[in-house]
Amino acid sequence: MTNNLNLIEDKLIGRNNFAFVIVGPTASGKGTMMKMLQDEFKDKVTFSISATTREPRPNEVNGVNYYFITKEEFETKIKNEEFLEWEPVHTSYYGTLLSEYDRANNGNLDLLLDIDIKGAINVKKKLKERATLIFLVPPSFEVMKERIMNRPGFKEEDFKHRLESAKREYDTFLSLQNEGGIIDYLVVNDKLEETYEKIRSIYLAESLKLQRLNNKELEKLCTLEIL
Ligand code: 5GP
Repeated sequence: MTNNLNLIEDKLIGRNNFAFVIVGPTASGKGTMMKMLQDEFKDKVTFSISATTREPRPNEVNGVNYYFITKEEFETKIKNEEFLEWEPVHTSYYGTLLSEYDRANNGNLDLLLDIDIKGAINVKKKLKERATLIFLVPPSFEVMKERIMNRPGFKEEDFKHRLESAKREYDTFLSLQNEGGIIDYLVVNDKLEETYEKIRSIYLAESLKLQRLNNKELEKLCTLEIL
């Protein structure tokens, strides 16, 4: 029902695609939310596959989860201005390729981005109203620690590192708020289904913002010829 309605609205109005960015500390549930959006809105969204210099994890596939490249290859891409944004995260480089943004534009799809907060700020600065930023957080520090420890493949030595990264994300978020804010929404991920309900509502509302609508199509829809 909801999807049929969307299709009708899309056909009537025409829509300019946008970047939908979910940022948040480790174990906030960004990946799960991205997966749920991809499953529900298959014909409307595509996930941005980042380039990274970190080693693939056992279940990760090159070109699916990330483009795994060497530090030299990454630096060449920086030099050739192939990134929409890039950042050193943890101990590796991560970056959003302009080719991913083009792929979304060419298919008239919205681009889902799971990137760190500094990268997200750069995306917003470049794309402006064509980017929506959500800050997703676990309900408490205790829950965050629990979720990190319960993750498959949990390594004690990563624990402190992940908490420090989370602290940096929160600090950046708070200082952004003090400067007037660049993040559009804050969502607390307590219960998975309720959180997804909020995220999908934001996505749907954002996709209907007037600035996302195609002016020519709007004119057609709103021009009345009274005989
Ligand atoms: P992981 O190594 O666990 O897959 O990701 C580590 C962190 O890097 C996560 O916070 C993730 O959101 C971030 N990240 C992944 N891809 C990108 C990217 O293209 N750009 C930036 N700035 N951060 C990224």
